Amino acid sequence: MSTGLLSVDLDALVSNWRALDAMTQGETCAVVKADGYGLGAAKVGRALARAGVRRFFVAVAEEGAELRQALGPNVEICVFSGHMRGDTDMIGDMMLTPMCNTIGQLTRHLEALPEHPFGIQLDTGMNRLGLEIDEWASVAEIALSQNCRLVISHLACADAPDHPMNRQQLEQFHLMTDGISVPRSLAATGGILLGPEYHFDLTRPGVGLYGGMPFADARPVAHLDLPVVQIRDVAEGETVGYGNVWTAQRPSKIATVAAGYADGLQRVLSDRATLWHAGQPVPLVGRVSMDLITADVTDLPDLPGSLSVLGADQTVDALADQAGTIGYEILTSLGPRYARRYSGG
Ligand SMILES: *Cc1c(COP(=O)(O)O)cnc(C)c1O
Repeated sequence: MSTGLLSVDLDALVSNWRALDAMTQGETCAVVKADGYGLGAAKVGRALARAGVRRFFVAVAEEGAELRQALGPNVEICVFSGHMRGDTDMIGDMMLTPMCNTIGQLTRHLEALPEHPFGIQLDTGMNRLGLEIDEWASVAEIALSQNCRLVISHLACADAPDHPMNRQQLEQFHLMTDGISVPRSLAATGGILLGPEYHFDLTRPGVGLYGGMPFADARPVAHLDLPVVQIRDVAEGETVGYGNVWTAQRPSKIATVAAGYADGLQRVLSDRATLWHAGQPVPLVGRVSMDLITADVTDLPDLPGSLSVLGADQTVDALADQAGTIGYEILTSLGPRYARRYSGG
């Protein structure tokens, strides 16, 4: 095999969901947008539904339609981007629950699908999606007298527990929703970790399920192993790869490994990432190219057949730090070329 192997540990995924679920009193949903954070929404969704998840969130209606086909009729699928123009048939046929973000979306929904369930997204300060306080005041009575299933808002700074924005948004959410009888939701992964005040009736974790920060106790879900195509001896003073950016300082053994920036190992990782072999770090040397990277295996006791990028030795956030990004982006950048294997669940 010449492509990398992406192994997805569905037992770890379910165990992360259970751990987050155990921290709250209310319902714990699951966010599976962007193809389940790159790990496969259908497989991830089925494993979580078997574990007891009854409500899923996706970004757009198309993702919701695919998820419905994978999961069948017995779960609720909520769409963060709401009821967009042109989506009415899909929302109706696929039994999706749009989170209405504007008065226009709410009107479109109530006119086109009057009995059909929907939710409301409120803006409590992030200024990305949702109704502002005065808009909500003007439509709350109508919305809440219809088939409104939940009212949500989203925290901008939940990964920074001491950020004053968290409490500010919490207070705004109370101001906008206290007294309503529809279930309320404010917390994603970060919000769950902020504590019970932030939990309300249901929580919406995403990244923590997939082993990412800010859920520091998460088990790794994605394991990425790359086959070594070739190992060569490089003399002191010779260079490796495009641009000659790495020069051997000693006689070296260089492994050429089958993955590159087309597979989500960003070029910014050139000459700075770490790969692993049986618990030992192996420095990536030279430029990352489209399909290949090169690593210095001189210090390994034997010649490796493969090197690991993600898994027990390196979390998605450890790799993200090396690339100057976040675990979310590492996961959702994993390319389509890997062989994918699912275990457990
Ligand atoms: C992505 C998203 C989530 C999940 O966030 P995580 O940080 O991955 O847990 C929850 N709610 C909304 C509105 C989102 O956009």
